[in-house]
Amino acid sequence: MFLDVKRLEINRIDEEIINLIISRNLISDEIIKFKIDNDFGVYDKNRELSIINNLKSKFKDSIDPLLIEELYSKILFYSKKEHIDIIKNSKLGQIVKDKPFLIAGPCSVESEEQIHKIASDLAKFGIKYLRGGAFKPRTSPNTFQGLGNIGIKYLSDAAHSNDMKVVTEVMSANQLKENYKYIDIIQIGSKNMFSYQLIKDIAEINKTNNKPIILKRNFNATLKELIYASEYLRNENQSNIILCLRGIRTFEQIESRLRFTPDLASIVELRKLTDLPIIFDPSHSSGDAEFVLELSKGALAMGVDGLIIETHYNPSESIVDAKQTISYTVLKKIFLFIEQIRLGIE
Ligand code: PEP
Ligand code: MN
Repeated sequence: MFLDVKRLEINRIDEEIINLIISRNLISDEIIKFKIDNDFGVYDKNRELSIINNLKSKFKDSIDPLLIEELYSKILFYSKKEHIDIIKNSKLGQIVKDKPFLIAGPCSVESEEQIHKIASDLAKFGIKYLRGGAFKPRTSPNTFQGLGNIGIKYLSDAAHSNDMKVVTEVMSANQLKENYKYIDIIQIGSKNMFSYQLIKDIAEINKTNNKPIILKRNFNATLKELIYASEYLRNENQSNIILCLRGIRTFEQIESRLRFTPDLASIVELRKLTDLPIIFDPSHSSGDAEFVLELSKGALAMGVDGLIIETHYNPSESIVDAKQTISYTVLKKIFLFIEQIRLGIE
């Protein structure tokens, strides 16, 4: 008897809650429509934060603030879900639309045909940033060193004819000078994170255009050393710096199949040390294609701003880093995961 009565009461309250949410959504729809008609930005992150914070402080003694936070992020998400396309096209939407962003492509540019095929394949999936090395910092000087200048030209033609941006590594100031106009995002590789003169030279060449620069963590570098390396760029007025975590060397490599130890926890720590965007490279971090999907999801869950991933239409055919190169099937899964995060805009 007692239970029946109480359950009925609970059912009635639940219905009341749902009815209140419906009424709330109707008002929120009216507001969104008003904003659209009057050309206001539709999405106001500060307003959302203030709603949640006010409720949290008002009811902090009677209800767990975490419940309010979770409940309201869901309520707010669903109230704007139907308007997501409009939000995406709004000014703020433009900024968050590409975040997290995905840079993908082969480890190295192998031929004109190879890079053109990969560029058009990836563009069809909706990927906007094409990676590919033309100057490869190979551990052994007796292996393929990349196609050099002509490789960058192929890469640039392939990317730009598919409306994509070029991401590529240079290992010397001359390489950058000669190829500057073909490159959209300059990569400073892991092995060169400690090459301070090169870093300064790159900043000098890039000083008027301020193109984005990806600075990869050396696999033996502390996070502080990574930050210091980025300050070499900052001190030369570079403001488009992106830090990239790409695995570090630990005792794990003695036995594990991992090429490096994925430095996922560093994402959290680095966030506290810098306001620069942080991306993660699951390919070099693990050195094994089988790890790339899970590592990508992990890094995204930990809040990276982007990923840089090696892929090829036939991974085993890759001249460099075949083992860690993922198929399009896996790449699509990662891209889908990213799209879901983007839709969540929060
Ligand atoms: C690369 O991304 O092409 C590369 C060589 O990676 P890393 O510098 O991290 O070894
Ligand atoms: Mn590689």
